[in-house]
Formats: sequence, structure tokens, C-alpha cells
Amino acid sequence: TAHLDAIAALNPRLNAYLTVTAEAALRGAGAADAALARGEQAPLGGIPLGIKDLFCTEGVRTTAASRMLENFVPPYESTVTRQLLRDGAVFLGKTNLDEFAMGSSNTNSAFGPVENPWHRTGDDAVLVPGGSSGGSAAAVAARIAMGATGTDTGGSIRQPASFCGIAGIKPTYGRCSRWGVVAFASSLDQPGPMARTVEDCAIMLRSMAGYDARDSTSVDRPVPDYAAACGRSLKGVRVGIPREYRADGMPSEIEALWQQGISWLRDAGCEIVDVSLPHTQYGLATYYIVAPAECSSNLARYDGIRYGRRVEAPTLDGLYEASREAGFGAEVKRRILIGTYVLSSGYYDAYYLRAQKVRSLILRDFTEAYRTVDALLTPTAPSAAFALGENMDDPIKMYLNDIFTVPASMAGMPGLSVPAGLDHQGLPLGLQLLGRPFDEETLFALGSAIE
Ligand code: GLN
Repeated sequence: TAHLDAIAALNPRLNAYLTVTAEAALRGAGAADAALARGEQAPLGGIPLGIKDLFCTEGVRTTAASRMLENFVPPYESTVTRQLLRDGAVFLGKTNLDEFAMGSSNTNSAFGPVENPWHRTGDDAVLVPGGSSGGSAAAVAARIAMGATGTDTGGSIRQPASFCGIAGIKPTYGRCSRWGVVAFASSLDQPGPMARTVEDCAIMLRSMAGYDARDSTSVDRPVPDYAAACGRSLKGVRVGIPREYRADGMPSEIEALWQQGISWLRDAGCEIVDVSLPHTQYGLATYYIVAPAECSSNLARYDGIRYGRRVEAPTLDGLYEASREAGFGAEVKRRILIGTYVLSSGYYDAYYLRAQKVRSLILRDFTEAYRTVDALLTPTAPSAAFALGENMDDPIKMYLNDIFTVPASMAGMPGLSVPAGLDHQGLPLGLQLLGRPFDEETLFALGSAIE
């Protein structure tokens, strides 16, 4: 009830929730109380969560923040949300995002931007929460959810977590099922938790993760007790500092925070090692070929016939065109155009195939590095939260936000963003821990030493 009251008070300004499911939440809370009274302990009994509006929720509108799916009510529940409900979680509602998870500021939502609850000291300019999981990050930061689900294709959990001063982890690709999650770029998309602390993320991930026969890329491995890794001894853990992440023009405060993170880990018993990931500089360019290519293929289903918005027209082609024109926003259209271009005959070899080859080289960089180190430490994003309206006229500038998060996505490896400090204007900054495939535990252990 406290959370629902806080949503009623704050959401009109923040726009973090697109749909609030108050009745279902109260029913869920009642059931959790009853279970507790019977002496039953559920891992997430009664914990109020926000669900990114990219997860299909049975009987609850799921929009992907697009006009295309404005009135779409799924007849089924995604695997991840089903598992959270199984473990007693209570859903407060569906959180805002960039349309189809494409963006880094949540300004691409068809239902309006999200406000970051943080402000610069002495300045009330509205700041973006990051994206694409901006509604989830803002909801957790504003205390109108105890935790939230996100999805991360190229940084959409980690960058908004950093901008809003919370923790968020992109698990290894294949760790959480993608079944029932609206697809953006299938070889990169991965659900994960966002919460106030590293330990809360660990608790949520245990419920979200696990094999699912309905997702062919889901991996059949036992799910560890991630929370048990928090606070674990770090003696002898080797942490690499990738020199290519020292980007030119990195704000000195982020550089300083990175140094601070290094000393915290050293004090906790880690051994710090200089490493090289030579293909880092190609991460962004190859991501912005592979992700749009897969997006153009995935979004072909929104043709006005099978799903979502339909705009009638005298011919079939006319119906497709009119439905897509009305249903998709500008960034989604840009991605579809880039994607169909790089996949078209004559350009396929030059762009898509080449990007896939570079992707293998990026993966090899990480594999090499993990021969000598157990994890890597980098900043999460090249800046703190920026003002609403900034970077909006230049897509390339917006894409640059993803420079530190995209390489691990291309390699399918896990990444945790930990709130690590404030800049001189009082805005939160995050540090990113990257690790070996399916070794989220080391990230939780390291992350809990930093936060
Ligand atoms: N910001 C990146 C993009 O726009 C990543 C988005 C995501 O991870 N879903 O594609």
C-alpha cells in the first residue's frame, strides 16, 4: 500500500510506470501475507516489483512503449515474470522504456520521457534516467519499486542503473529465458534485475534465471545461490583493468572514480592487473550493425495483420505501410532502415558479415583476458545523467553512451553496474564489473565490496 501511495504521488511527474496494476498488487500482497501466516517462506514473498513493459504479462497490457502495441494484452506470461510470481513477488505495474528497448535515455518512448529522480545540486533541470530500462531504474531510485526487471541488449540495464544510482546486472546470454520478452536483437537480448543493492539483484536473479525449453538459447545449468556470493572473500581474485577503456575525453571524475574502485578492490584483497582488449574500439560500430539487422528481422512481424496496430488501406502493401508509419517512432524506423540496408544483397558481406567477424574477435579478446584475470573493472558509462533534450538531435552522440557496455554484450558475457559515488554536481556514477560466462557470482562478490 505504501508503494502504491508513493506511485500515485510521484508517477505523474516521473512517468516511470506506463500501467499500474494496483488491484493485482493488493491481491498478491494479501496472498503473500496469508502464506507467511501459514509459515511458508517464499524467496520474494510480498516484494513489490516493477516490470519493464517489454515482458509479456498475462492479461496486462504490454506496450514495448510503442504505439504499435498500445492495446496489446498478452494471453501468456513471460518465463522470467512467471518465475518471479512463483517465488512470491508482487507486481506494481509495467515500467516505461525506449520504444522496443532502442535508446539510451528513455526519450524514445511513445508515451513520453521518464524523469530521473536525481537532480544536480542547485539546479532543477530535468535529467534523463538513461535507457532503455529508464522507467525501471527511475522507479527503483525513487523508491516506488523495491526492485525491477530490465533487459539489456547493449547496456540497457547497466547504463540506466548507473544514471540513477542503483545496481543492475546483465547476466550471461542464455542465463535468463527470453521467452515472452518482446524481441529487439535476439542474439544480444538478455533479461536481468535492477535494485537498490547488489545483494537485492542477487536475490532477484536467482528467481529469474534458469533453463527454459521454450527459449532455444537458454542454457541448462544449475542456478547458484547468488546472494551467498555477496561479501565473499576476495583474497587472490584477479581483476583486470582494460587499457582500451581509457577513452579520450573521459571526464576526469569518472577516471578518478575508476581509480577509487581499483583501490577499494585492492584493499579487499584483489590483485589488480593491466590487460588489453584490442578490438574494443570496434564494439560500438559493429553493435550498431548487428543490433539493427536483427531488429529489422524481428520487427517484420508488426505488419498490421498479425499483431498490434492496423491502419486500413485499399491494398495489402498500403496496409503494411500505413500501419508501420503510424505504429513506429522515428528511432525504430531508423534502426529498421539501417538493418534492412546492411542485410541487403550487395551490402551483406561488407557490413553484416564483417560485423559478425569482428564480433568473434571481440569475444576472443575477452576469452584471452579471462585466461589471466577473473573479472574486469571499467566505468559503466562515459558520463553522468544528462539533461532531457541533450544528445537528441544527433543519434551518433546518443549511441556513444553505450561505448563501455556494448563489448560485453557482443561477447555474451555478464556485466554488473554498481553505484560507486557522486560527481561534483551530486549525480550518481556507476562502475562496471565484467566476468566470465556464467560466473555472475564473482561479479556479486566484487560488487558488494565496491558499493
Ligand atoms: N542503447 C542501446 C541501443 O540503443 C542499447 C539498448 C538496449 O540494451 N536495449 O541499442
